Amino acid sequence: MEFRNLKAQYNALKTKMDEAVISVMAGGRYIMGENVDKIEKKLSGYTGRGECITCANGTDALILSLQALGIGKGDAVFVPDFTFFATAEAVAAVGAAPVFVDVDKKTFNISPESLSKAVTEVKAFGELVPKAVIAVDLFGLPADYDLIAEIAESNGLYLIEDGAQGFGGEYKNRRCCSFGDVSTTSFFPAKPLGCYGDGGAVFTDDEQLAEIIRSLKVHGKGSGKYDNIRIGMNSRLDEIQAAVLLVKLEAFIKYELEAVNNAAREYNARLSGIVDTPYIPDGLFSSYAQYTVKFKSREIRDYVQSALNKNDIPCFVYYPRPLHAQQAFKGLRQYVGCDNSEYLCGTVLSLPIHPYIAPEDIQKICSVLSDENNQGGL
Ligand SMILES: *Cc1c(COP(=O)(O)O)cnc(C)c1O
Repeated sequence: MEFRNLKAQYNALKTKMDEAVISVMAGGRYIMGENVDKIEKKLSGYTGRGECITCANGTDALILSLQALGIGKGDAVFVPDFTFFATAEAVAAVGAAPVFVDVDKKTFNISPESLSKAVTEVKAFGELVPKAVIAVDLFGLPADYDLIAEIAESNGLYLIEDGAQGFGGEYKNRRCCSFGDVSTTSFFPAKPLGCYGDGGAVFTDDEQLAEIIRSLKVHGKGSGKYDNIRIGMNSRLDEIQAAVLLVKLEAFIKYELEAVNNAAREYNARLSGIVDTPYIPDGLFSSYAQYTVKFKSREIRDYVQSALNKNDIPCFVYYPRPLHAQQAFKGLRQYVGCDNSEYLCGTVLSLPIHPYIAPEDIQKICSVLSDENNQGGL
């Protein structure tokens, strides 16, 4: 069994995909061509954002956003403590300080109460200037944007949406990658919308900001490639990946997003009452980058995980360690407690999910899981 079956997806899209990729190779234009232009237009249309700027990966998308907003040394950027490392790594990469904020136990997303508290603490301590908050749409579920935007606004913070896992999700009829001043996503193969390599994008409604990001991603270019007005980097999506994304986006919109939600419903029906299934608040829609359940204790979780693995069922702990406990962030001041984040690291488990998963596979996973959960609970 596969955790995320990308080969099944390729086989379903093979005819169109082969044609799209071969036509780029035959066309001779590999960087910054018509496929990149096309996918940027489609993505800005889909998310409802005025501007889409593609780049080399989701980490660069965050770094480009932070740089374009002028964030750097001496600045505090608030990030959830329970997320993939890159969210905070990007902050440190531009010289700013990540401030770890606790998450909500049910949604796994950044807690508005903890955010308010962290902002107050940073101001009181006086060492850093609070500049921005990065909200993450963890496992495909949008963060609580109404409350977060309010806190950001009343404290003069930029709001950045890290939608690397959120593409396709919705918050009150508004699509992910459309929240805050800038939003980002990743096209890493295992993300909701993935390409066949690395890729990413930045979204914004601010034309001036978009122009800065377009410059930053091509060596700080000015009016032309050999006119350099700032220090930037080389971070581009290539034509082959753009062609891949055009084929995949069509399938994503037509049936994949629905299929992955059907798989989640199937899981929910079989697992409710056995473990804590994903909580989706009213008015929100998840793109299920992961299907993550919660166990009663670390011991039961570890027991069930190894039993599933023994039965040839791949499953992973996303994430085993809170960001504040990562060695790379040793020495950073922790302004608020992150108990929920620690608790989740010890109790969550992500099960196989993707649009092509067979109902029999879900059935098998759930039956092994519930048998072993009973055993482990004894
Ligand atoms: C994957 C991911 C990123 C980084 O994306 P890459 O394309 O791998 O650089 C950033 N944030 C989150 C939440 C992610 O899951």
